[in-house]
Amino acid sequence: MQLVGRVPPVLAFVLYVGCGSAENDSAPSAPSAPSAPTAPTTELPSATGGEAAGAALPEPRVEAVLTREERDRLAPQEIVRALREGNERFVAGDVTVRDHTAQVRAASLGQWPKATVLSCIDSRVPVEDVFDRGIGDVFVARVAGNFENPDILGSMEFASAVAGSRVILVLGHENCGAVKGAIDGVEMGNLTATLANIRPAVEHFADYTGDRSSNNPEFVQMVANQNVRNTVADIRANSPILREREERGELAIVGAMYDMESGRVSFLE
Ligand SMILES: [Zn+2]
Repeated sequence: MQLVGRVPPVLAFVLYVGCGSAENDSAPSAPSAPSAPTAPTTELPSATGGEAAGAALPEPRVEAVLTREERDRLAPQEIVRALREGNERFVAGDVTVRDHTAQVRAASLGQWPKATVLSCIDSRVPVEDVFDRGIGDVFVARVAGNFENPDILGSMEFASAVAGSRVILVLGHENCGAVKGAIDGVEMGNLTATLANIRPAVEHFADYTGDRSSNNPEFVQMVANQNVRNTVADIRANSPILREREERGELAIVGAMYDMESGRVSFLE
């Protein structure tokens, strides 16, 4: 990218991902550039326009890419509420109709995501869909077992302290293979070290007298919930930047669990 040769590497990275306002200056006369980052061309046409003549179909919900100003006006708890409401639409099958091609263009000048989701890699948990979010809405970090480590924390610190994301949501899920592997002490290549990050949640229930194996769905879910709680606590403990932002009310760090059958996300208190 051309910016790298003209500005310090860190700043170039920030500009590249759209966290400053200077990106317009780098291409002031680009003939195909949208008009302005604060007013993206997000007036999307109705997806049913002209196609459903005579059919009594409800008007689909359409949504624009969030601008920086719109995002910055949102309090963290408002963003948590928006995620909850998006999940309710997902569960109900009433998701937002999005013109991804238009959204790609509208988001090309920058990104102002309102939240960061840390999820397991499980293919059955499509994070943006689960919260009815589109292009430019959320940062997503994924690792088997949704735990934090320095790389994940660094990504979160960028997403929050540089790019302005105002919620960190740790999303565990039901019937998690990584949690089951940690419970059973699976060892295989690099996976052994990965699963070691989940072991503290297993050890948390050292006094559990029931079946402490992955054959016990109750125990698996207990460990999955605890793993999310541990991750939330570890984020606060291991990232002073994020902890202080939360203490100042600029960020909320929350945990939640995804139900595989219903698609419903339950927030852990
Ligand atoms: Zn999983």
